[in-house]
Amino acid sequence: MSTGHITIDLDAIIANWRALDKMTSVETAAVVKADGYGLGAGTVAKALAKAGARRFFVAVAEEGAAVRQALGPGPEVCVFSGHMRGDTDIIGDLWLTPMLNSLDQVTRHFDALPGHAFGVQLDTGMNRLGMEWDEWAAIAEIALAQNPTLVMSHLACADEPDHPMNAYQLDVFHKMTDGIAVPRSLAATGGILLGKDYHFDLCRPGIGLYGGMPFDQSHTVVQMDLPVVQIRHLDAGEVVGYGNSWQATRPSRIATLSAGYADGLIRAMSDKATLYFGNDPVPLVGRVSMDLLTVDVTDLREDPHALTLIGPQQGVDQLADAAGTIGYEILTSLGGRYTRRTRGG
Ligand SMILES: *Cc1c(COP(=O)(O)O)cnc(C)c1O
Repeated sequence: MSTGHITIDLDAIIANWRALDKMTSVETAAVVKADGYGLGAGTVAKALAKAGARRFFVAVAEEGAAVRQALGPGPEVCVFSGHMRGDTDIIGDLWLTPMLNSLDQVTRHFDALPGHAFGVQLDTGMNRLGMEWDEWAAIAEIALAQNPTLVMSHLACADEPDHPMNAYQLDVFHKMTDGIAVPRSLAATGGILLGKDYHFDLCRPGIGLYGGMPFDQSHTVVQMDLPVVQIRHLDAGEVVGYGNSWQATRPSRIATLSAGYADGLIRAMSDKATLYFGNDPVPLVGRVSMDLLTVDVTDLREDPHALTLIGPQQGVDQLADAAGTIGYEILTSLGGRYTRRTRGG
């Protein structure tokens, strides 16, 4: 085995979905965009559908097609980007539910697919997707008469519970939607943790399902083991890798591992990340290169055949911290070169 190896624990994803579901008294959907945060949208969606999830969210229609293919008819597959030009066939043929984001999208949807399911996305201050006040005021009556399956908005700062933006967006969402007879949704993972004022009729967690922050009670979903290609013995003063960024201060053993930034192990991890041999931490030293990275294993008693970068010893967020990013980016960057295995489900 010469590539890195990723094990995805579907039972842990199911347990995380159930734990998040237990924190609310409303329906819990599952966000499986970006190929299920890099872990496989089809397999994740199938496992969660078996566990009871009835509604799934993706970013774009093409992702929805893959999820529909995996799930078959039944569960609702919702598309955050709404009904874009060129999406009509895929939305119509595969029974996707676009979250309409603008007057243009509403018009396109009603013209092209009259009677076809849709939802509405409102902008409560994030200024990214969704209709703003004026647009919604102009179209609300017409749109609501066509029975949308959901009216939703998205929080910009939900991972910071004390941020005043949360209460502000909650207030705007109430003002835009109070009194309507359509199910409402505001909360992703962070919003679930903010408490029941934010839950409305449906919550839509993503990252929490996959073991990432801000859900700190999650089960470990991903294990990544990287094989050692060779081990070199260095004298004090010798250097390692591109740019000579690391220099041995003592006689050292350096393990060269088969994985690099082409596999999503970003260069910002250089000289910063930690790997594990069992429970023993060993430092990544020198620069991460395209296909290889180097680890100081001088303090291990044996020569390892593989080291763990993500697992029970260190979750995606700790690794992300070392590289100055977030767990979401680490997961969705994992490349296509790993051998992947799923467990459970
Ligand atoms: C990505 C996304 C989610 C899921 O967010 P997490 O923070 O991963 O739980 C929910 N809603 C929208 C609109 C999103 O873009």
